[in-house]
Amino acid sequence: METEPVLRITEIFHSIQGEGFHAGTPAIFIRGTGCNLACDFCDTDFSPREKLSPEAIAERIAGYPCRFVVLTGGEPTIQPAFKALVEILHARGYYVTMETNGGSEDTFGVDWVTVSPKLSQKGKWVLKRAQELKLIYESQDLAFYEDSSFEHYFLQPKEIRTAAWGKGERDRESTRAEWDKTVRAVMANPKWKLSIQLHKELGLR
Ligand code: SF4
Repeated sequence: METEPVLRITEIFHSIQGEGFHAGTPAIFIRGTGCNLACDFCDTDFSPREKLSPEAIAERIAGYPCRFVVLTGGEPTIQPAFKALVEILHARGYYVTMETNGGSEDTFGVDWVTVSPKLSQKGKWVLKRAQELKLIYESQDLAFYEDSSFEHYFLQPKEIRTAAWGKGERDRESTRAEWDKTVRAVMANPKWKLSIQLHKELGLR
């Protein structure tokens, strides 16, 4: 007997995409649980709150006045059942985007892919061609990341918190220094544009 695919989901909510090319766009966020990496600045909640079928997720979001979806995580590509969700959402007229760390080339046929490779991947970044590359700026060698084929390149300042692993309050002074550092990097490397976490500045999810 064939079993229905199930997705581990941490949260589903309607907000504003705060980062990168689509900053300012109203969006429905579907956050899958779990990641194949462990970045020290990660502030993502990995608690699996629900197990839902793709059909159930589509029904859940049907009431939002929005047809722009962000699949995120954690890392969405570690759950192949997202592919079935993408097919259902396309059939219902949604524009589906994905935020991934680029550890897999299979992005399930979404319309727009934002790749955010992390320093902790150590060469496990394989997805080097998509619409958008968004780097959390940690003084990386940008030339390494420019050996790729993206339509848009973004640098985003690292948010510094008062405790490790994304815990605690934002350390305003240190975060401000990261903003300044990132602005300088963008001005010196005009292939890149600045991305800030607009949703955080607005106090949104
Ligand atoms: S890739 Fe993203 S979700 Fe995964 S550990 Fe790093 S910051 Fe967190």
